[in-house]
Amino acid sequence: MAILICGGAGYIGSHVNKLLNKEGYDTIVFDNLVYGHIDAVKWGRFVEGDLMYESDIENVFQKNKINEVIHLAAYAYVGESMNDPEKYYYNNVVSTINLLKVMHKYNCNKIVFSSTCATYGEPESNPITEEMRQIPINPYGKTKLVVEHILKDYNTAYGLDFVVLRYFNAAGADPEGEIGESHYPETHLIPLVLDAAAGKRTDIKVFGTDYDTFDGSCIRDYVHVADLAKAHLLALRYLENDQPSNWFNLGNEKGTSVLEVIDSVKRVTGNDFKVTFSKRRDGDPAKLVGSSKKIRKVLGWEPEYNNIDTIVSHAWNWYQKKVTELLI
Ligand code: UDP
Repeated sequence: MAILICGGAGYIGSHVNKLLNKEGYDTIVFDNLVYGHIDAVKWGRFVEGDLMYESDIENVFQKNKINEVIHLAAYAYVGESMNDPEKYYYNNVVSTINLLKVMHKYNCNKIVFSSTCATYGEPESNPITEEMRQIPINPYGKTKLVVEHILKDYNTAYGLDFVVLRYFNAAGADPEGEIGESHYPETHLIPLVLDAAAGKRTDIKVFGTDYDTFDGSCIRDYVHVADLAKAHLLALRYLENDQPSNWFNLGNEKGTSVLEVIDSVKRVTGNDFKVTFSKRRDGDPAKLVGSSKKIRKVLGWEPEYNNIDTIVSHAWNWYQKKVTELLI
């Protein structure tokens, strides 16, 4: 009996894989390595495959008894999704339908799906609760919402049980320093600010200082990746206990502004660097903070690392290790 982790070589997936192995699960990481890293698959088994090819998925289900699936595989660049929606609908939606089709064929009926706060678009208010309306403002968020709808229909028609986790901003790195964040291209705030602190970028640009927030910069809810991983473990257990399909925000209920993140990086690294104020980035809502009431109550999730300096210091440890290894 194994857990299939689609996208398990990626940033969040690799932390989920580590935790599940620590908890005694037998895992199979399935990843096409387009954005994932083979070096991040340090636990369980690995199958290189692509959800776009049903035969790749079928191959895994034929050879193994898969009892649950965690599906994190997706393209997740908001800007790219605006310019190339076809790539996103194809990869994020069609590939999921392929996966669900094979799961159905092999009577595997439990899935934990990675969704996003981007399904809410511009929120009515903060903190965002699960029953607020979902009106995504970019194709990336739309693809995730479409899959949420598909899961609900499969639940009704075929009895598929699911847990949807709507991530807020994943951040930080494995507290033990074994894995962390490595994106190419990198667009996320914390790794870019670390680049500036390490002198690998001349400056960090703050996208917008005229938002209606306390310091004018955007506010996000940064969640430690190890805490995100824990939510997946709890979601699996929830499904194993035959609880009804459900959906949860995965946020800390704590907003941190771009300028506060920059200050934290300066404090943690002890390095100063240039900060440039630049215009707003398209598609950025002013504030996204997730209510964690439901996930705490129903899954018993408790974030362990919700202090921004702790999140940044784990990311910095990983960053330094990565740089050192690359230099060797
Ligand atoms: N951001 C920024 N400068 C950068 C990268 C990001 O000011 O070089 C801001 C961005 O506008 C957003 C926040 O940092 O308000 C977090 O952005 P990120 O891309 O990390 O995550 P997102 O919220 O888009 O998922």
